[in-house]
Parts: sequence; C-alpha cells; structure tokens
Amino acid sequence: MRMSKLYIPTLREMPAEAEIASHKLLLRSGMMRKLVSGVYSYLPMGYRVIRKVEQIVREEMDRAGSQELLMSAIQPKEIWEATGRWENFGPEMFRLKDRNDREFCLGPTHEEYFTNLIKDEVKSYKQLPLNLYQIQTKYRDEKRPRFGLMRCREFIMKDAYSFDADEESMKKAYEIMWEAYDKVFTRLKLKYKVVQGDTGAMGGKISHEFMAMSEVGESLVAYCDHCDYAATDEKAEVIYKVRENLSEELELEKVHTPNITTIEALVEFFNVEHSNFAKALVFNVSGKPVVAIIPGDRELNETKFCNYLGVGEHEVEMADENMILDITGANKGFTGPIGLKKGVRLLIDSRITKMKNLVVGGNETDYHLKNVNYGRDFTGEVVDDLLLVREGDICPKCGKSLKMDRGIEVGNIFQLGTKYSDSLGANFLDENGKEKPFIMGCYGIGISRSVAAVVEQYHDEDGIIWPLVVAPYHIIITVVNIKNEEQIDLGESLYKELNSMGLEVVLDDRNERAGVKFKDRDLIGIPIRITIGKKAGESIVEYSIRGKDEKLEIGVDELTSLIKDEFNKAGLKI
Ligand code: ATP
Ligand code: MG
Repeated sequence: MRMSKLYIPTLREMPAEAEIASHKLLLRSGMMRKLVSGVYSYLPMGYRVIRKVEQIVREEMDRAGSQELLMSAIQPKEIWEATGRWENFGPEMFRLKDRNDREFCLGPTHEEYFTNLIKDEVKSYKQLPLNLYQIQTKYRDEKRPRFGLMRCREFIMKDAYSFDADEESMKKAYEIMWEAYDKVFTRLKLKYKVVQGDTGAMGGKISHEFMAMSEVGESLVAYCDHCDYAATDEKAEVIYKVRENLSEELELEKVHTPNITTIEALVEFFNVEHSNFAKALVFNVSGKPVVAIIPGDRELNETKFCNYLGVGEHEVEMADENMILDITGANKGFTGPIGLKKGVRLLIDSRITKMKNLVVGGNETDYHLKNVNYGRDFTGEVVDDLLLVREGDICPKCGKSLKMDRGIEVGNIFQLGTKYSDSLGANFLDENGKEKPFIMGCYGIGISRSVAAVVEQYHDEDGIIWPLVVAPYHIIITVVNIKNEEQIDLGESLYKELNSMGLEVVLDDRNERAGVKFKDRDLIGIPIRITIGKKAGESIVEYSIRGKDEKLEIGVDELTSLIKDEFNKAGLKI
C-alpha cells in the first residue's frame, strides 16, 4: 500500500476525551473513529488488525474442533423470555420492535439462540459432542461505555457453545477450549493470567477469565505467588485474620455521637480501631430495603451480595435518605442492626458473628451503640462471605498472602450445565432412548477488546508497537526525499520485491518532511522499518525495528535474511 493513497486520518493532537493509551493511540493513528459513545468504526488500518486477531482465533478454534457459523444479531424476545433473561439482562440489553410491534433484542450474547437452534436439529447422542462458534458483533448498552475499544456498546466477540451428553464430556470440552484460549493469547503476545470468575448473568457454577495484565484494566485480580490461586475480585473468597477479642461480652451502652457519621470520625471519637465497628449498608433492591452488616474495616462485594439475593446488579442501588429514615427512624449515618423496621432483610457477614463488643449505628439520629454482640443483641441472615478481597488476605488454597493486580478481561469460559437446555427444552436421546438435556458450556473472546489490550501492553510515548503477528502491515519503507530519484527508485523496487514475497508493505511515498514521516511511522507502529536516504545510490538503507533503539546500515541484499529472522522470532513464516 502506498501511504500517499492510504486512508489513515492521523491526528496531531491528543484526543481530549481519551484517557488511556489504547484509546488515544487507536484514534490518533487513524485506526478507528467514534460515531457515538461506545460505538466505533474500524478504519482500514484498524480493521486489518481486527482481522488478524480474528484469524488467530479462527485458526485455534478450528484446530480445537469447533465449527464456525454466523448468526443474526437480531433475536426474538420469546427465546429470552423462556430463560428469564429478557427481564434479568436489564437495561444492558438493546431492545427494538418491528413494524408489527413484535419485540426483539440486539444480541448481547447468544446462548438462547444457539440452544434454540440445536434443539430442533440435534436429536441423538451420536451427534455429540458438538462445538460451534461465530465471530460476530454484539450489542450491550453498557452503563459506562469508555476507554475506546475496551468497553463498547457495539463490539466484536467470538462466542462458542459446546453441547455434550454428560458432565464429564462437557468438562473435557471446557479443557479443550481453555487450551485453545491459551494458544490464542500466547499468539497475540499478551501477558495474561487465567483466573476464577463469577458466573454472573451467564449462569452455571464454574468459569475462568483470561486477563491481560494492565494497570488500566477494569478488572481486579487476586492472586497468590506461592500457588496457582487466582480469582477476580468479584469471585475471590475472603479469608483474613478477624480481630481477636477474647474478652467478656460487655454491657450494651448508648452513646451520644452528634453529627458523627463516617467510620473515620467514629474511629477518632471512640478512639478504637476500624475493626471494632460494624458497618451497616442500606440497599434498595427493586424497591425493597436490604441491610448488610459487615466489619467496619472491610468493603462489601456487590457481586456476592447480588448472588446471595439472586438478583442482577442493575436491580440494586444504594438506598436514599427517605428509605433509610423509613426503616431506621434515623438520618443516614446512624444505621445499625438493632431495632430496624419489621420485615427488613438483614444480611450479616459471618465474620460479624465472631467479633465481640462492636460499635454500631443506633437507628436513632446522633446515637451509636457500644458493646453490641451478635446473638445476644441481634440476629439476621448470616451469609458466609459478603466481603471484597484485598491485598494481604489469606490465600484460600495455600494459606499464604494474596496480591492484587489489574487486568483486562479478554476471554471468559463457562461451564453452563443445563440452564439453557432445561429452560428451552433442548433434549437429545441417549443410548437407551431416554430424553436428556444437553450439558452446555460457552466461551467468549473479546476480539476488539483484545486489540485494545495489545496496544496497552505494546506502546511507548510515540505510538503503538504492534507485535508482528497482528500488525496492520509488516514493513514500512520510508523514502526520506521523494524528489531524489535514486531514493524513490530504490523505494519502488524494494516495495515491489517485498510485496512479491507475500509481505505486507507500506511505502511512504508522501511529499512530506522526513520528520513528519518518522513521527507517523512511530505512531502507527508497523514493526519492520526500512529507511531510504542519502546512501540510496550505494544500495544502502537503514533497518530498524519499532520499539528498539538499534539502527543498522545495511546493503539491500541483506534485507531478506534480516526480515526472515524477524518472522522466525515471531513464530511466523514468510
Ligand atoms: P465485563 O465484565 O468486562 O463487562 P463480561 O464478563 O460482561 O465483561 P462476557 O459476557 O464474558 O463479558 O463476554 C465475553 C467477552 O467479550 C469478554 O471477556 C470481553 O473480552 C468481551 N466484552 C464484553 N463486554 C464488552 C464490551 N462492552 N466491550 C468490548 N468487549 C467486551
Ligand atoms: Mg465475562
């Protein structure tokens, strides 16, 4: 491709709306453009990268025995109603009506659709196992679309679904997908961790997330350096040394605490540690109040809270002052577990039952209670674990200390079981002619989000540093001065020769200053660079690799072997 003809609208200025490197650089380098919040167009350069990522995913999925097909983005309401997800998916689902008022959604995912297809087509155990996938556009009306390709409302996903006759065979399918994902993310050159995930809206019990490690990742991962334990913060089981207090249960006291509503202010007022307090958090869950009591020095894990109640996150919000006043009789900041309005659900993190002589809100404005003890003074629904993990908590697997890091969720695999086959009546006949539901798994990879993850891990202050495997082009030839005949002639002949070898080459033949060309070249991030300057007459060029300082002055006859080396290093063939 000639740079003079290439549609690549690079930007000089940093786009103001972009906060993270991948968002800034993908816009600046002219790889994509925004239409509206969370909706992007992939321009020619960006789309080449997308297609390369897709191709890697395709090859590994095919190799793992999955078969590609393509489904519609439009899905009828009925199949989603059957699984209860028309309701449960909540406001994230884009909904629409046709001219006859029939309701549809733009698929945020395709479990219902695939299960519904298989239900009518696959009847016998002899047709199993079956694994199907597609690479397709998904729609989710995200609450906070942001960070460019990271969290979009329209994005490209590879989604696969497995159908098996029994649990064991489904587990095998899961393992095969896990291995395929390892190959994909290794080929994409991503530094990643596989971590236990919460199954959330997909259902099932077991899931793993593939996290590309990055400081700007929206996911938090708890992991152990001493064993292989790793889980998302949503999932991670919390174990820590609860404050030991072997003293007697003391007499309950009411204490006047005017305007003291935060834990910080209380710590100062009572002159005790954070861990002597129990926090009361009041939520409005679909219009009903639910109070959670947790240790004062810990945070609530909203996923665990929702899972316990069996509700979606969109059904939960913090209660407003009116709801708090109604159930406690007090202003915000004085809520506690004793004397709440009848019928209010009170969830108690199990750690609270072991802590003695706590300070809690008094359910009376400007009052707290001291020496409060579970059992003696209040009871409620004790929940094993409602807490958010933090650095230094005890590893649930080996007992050592956990660390925390940020990651970008690029893939997610789920053991679904029979959630979808049961609700959609998708059965097959086993060896004995008995009807059984398919045992399913589902497997997603964020294609467009993976591109953002690659850029996050491979860039510097000047631009993107594409790994060769996903680079929009392999080689860029920069002709320093196109008015110099020797230079442009050598550029043209190299361009022809390298193209004929099947290499993907950009020839920067623009009538621009060398500085502009070098800046653009850094920004776009094509890995192999050939600069043709003053020594063109002697057939000498400069050879360099994006992101590396070394520059070689070489004769053109040495180029092929250097390029071949680079391809070998990247695990590619010419
Ligand atoms: P997240 O927790 O980040 O919202 P998710 O768990 O809801 O993602 P899945 O349903 O597991 O997403 O979708 C499979 C994959 O699709 C994810 O692992 C991710 O890579 C990608 N993906 C999900 N939502 C988005 C989005 N809004 N924009 C871009 N990619 C996404
Ligand atoms: Mg996920």
